[in-house]
Amino acid sequence: MKQATDIDHYRLAYYGSDILRKVAPEVKNIDQGVIDLIEGMFHVMRRDRGIGLAAPQIHVSKKILTINLEVYRGPSIALINPEILGDSGDEVPYEEGCLSVPGIMKEVLRPGEISVRGLTTEGKEVQIDADGLFARVLQHEIDHLNGILFVDRLEDYVRKELTSELKKIKKLNKK
Ligand code: ZN
Repeated sequence: MKQATDIDHYRLAYYGSDILRKVAPEVKNIDQGVIDLIEGMFHVMRRDRGIGLAAPQIHVSKKILTINLEVYRGPSIALINPEILGDSGDEVPYEEGCLSVPGIMKEVLRPGEISVRGLTTEGKEVQIDADGLFARVLQHEIDHLNGILFVDRLEDYVRKELTSELKKIKKLNKK
């Protein structure tokens, strides 16, 4: 049962939580704490069936994201201090959801292709050129690191329709 306890230690932050609104600081040192945190993030994605996670979603304000697209035959990666270098310019719609905004799925417009730079867990600088679902998840998670949620990117009238659902989600932070 030890493992279950360890996993449950990572509680999700939901819509309305202050930590989701902060710009997360960069990681200066990839120490054991960072490695353990990334492992915890992969646990949370497995536990809650997420394909992407940003550290602030488990109450840690650091520029770290994890993505696991293995079920879609895509990559499984952790990226530290990710930064978008450029995009294709064309905006395409795609339905998004978020572990911090449970139960809501809405189409969001974002560029279809992007280039991202960041560090691996070994501290090696990598550049990733992504398209499709991978590009989508990268942008969604990088938004999190800048205090932005996908519902912020919806048209005002769409977001207004979600007001009562969002109010309910806010209350999950107090449980
Ligand atoms: Zn999210």
